[in-house]
Amino acid sequence: MIKMENISKVYNSGVVETKALEQVSFEIKKGEFVAVIGRSGCGKSTLLNILGGMDTATEGSYLFDDICVNQLRGSSLAQFRNKKIGFVFQGFYLVAEMSAEENVALPLGYAKVGKKERKQRALELLKAVGLEEKAKNRPFELSGGEQQRVAIARAIANEPSVLLADEPTGNLDEENSKMVMELLQDLHKKGLTIIMVTHDMELAKKAERIIQIKDGKIIKDE
Ligand code: ADP
Ligand code: ADP
Repeated sequence: MIKMENISKVYNSGVVETKALEQVSFEIKKGEFVAVIGRSGCGKSTLLNILGGMDTATEGSYLFDDICVNQLRGSSLAQFRNKKIGFVFQGFYLVAEMSAEENVALPLGYAKVGKKERKQRALELLKAVGLEEKAKNRPFELSGGEQQRVAIARAIANEPSVLLADEPTGNLDEENSKMVMELLQDLHKKGLTIIMVTHDMELAKKAERIIQIKDGKIIKDE
């Protein structure tokens, strides 16, 4: 599904040049659960942003199915992102004024799903993450773990090809982290392709494959 070849990323502020990724190559098959691990500053977020079409590589080739993502810009890149990618972040970024159900229904609205179906699908998604009873609650009435589960339901609402997760348990205590990781494993068992970035080896071990990055290079992939 995903094939990156010799991907490099240089950030250039005009004053300093930072090589965030250097000649990174790997393939990811549909249905895999991959953890990308490495110390802070090694290039994990840069890699995830390129994978998700939020940033473009300076050099190299990125194929997603038959799409040359590295050649997309502007609205075609946005279209790729909306169709193929679901994102979850360390901060949950739910809309504070909206209920859990409304948050989950949001991307369905962007995809022009009708109002009635939107509500029904949002409730099904909340059920899938074990939160159907909290549909009417707003984010401040939910624990951190519950908020992240709502964010995951929202991320998969339009059935993306891949879920990208950037330190998804970074703001959670042990118990909530465990719950969120169990949810990701559960979604993986149902066939979802997941790429998760973390600096925590214990979490990475929950995935089936670990890609380790150091100073912008892959040093291990097993
Ligand atoms: P990680 O996610 O592993 O902490 P990042 O991908 O965020 O690493 O960063 C990799 C390197 O690129 C770091 O040296 C960081 O300072 C640099 N970097 C990241 N984003 C930018 C940016 N927008 N502009 C300049 N340098 C950046
Ligand atoms: P945690 O121990 O994970 O921090 P909390 O103590 O925040 O969890 O929440 C425990 C339970 O109480 C959760 O199910 C959450 O939805 C509910 N809850 C927390 N704050 C509120 C609130 N202000 N209104 C309604 N329910 C709440």
